[in-house]
Amino acid sequence: MAITDKIYVKNHRQLASQLETSFPKGAFKGATLDILFQGEGLAKLNEASQDRVLDFAEDFLDCDCQANPHCGCPEEKFVRYLLELRAQGLGPDAIVDVMGDDYMLYAYPGDVLSFLDDSVRTLEAVEALADVDAKPDVEKQARESRDELV
Ligand SMILES: [Zn+2]
Repeated sequence: MAITDKIYVKNHRQLASQLETSFPKGAFKGATLDILFQGEGLAKLNEASQDRVLDFAEDFLDCDCQANPHCGCPEEKFVRYLLELRAQGLGPDAIVDVMGDDYMLYAYPGDVLSFLDDSVRTLEAVEALADVDAKPDVEKQARESRDELV
């Protein structure tokens, strides 16, 4: 399961009752993207929630793909967001705090930790393959990205 399948909407029940409809808890579920983040119910949310929901939509759902928001870009952008927080030196607990403040989302720190570990291993694999293929640029880039994460 991708990390974006393990990102949840905070105050889910409260938001659903403000919107007077139900939607899944998972932030990147199709129906959540449609109902919460692209829906017309925004005006029904309290102001603090509106700001977070709008920020999320602006930061992750802003592509021009025809299938938007079901094109995969939101998930990709969110993964980049997590890696950037890690590169700034944040640990899993702090990353969970920041996504709560920024977008009213939460995840379990253990899931974030495994995601970061997997990312490091992926980059190590890229590095090793580039080494075998004698692609020094790719190898160097993977090593630098990895160094930012560990
Ligand atoms: Zn897209």
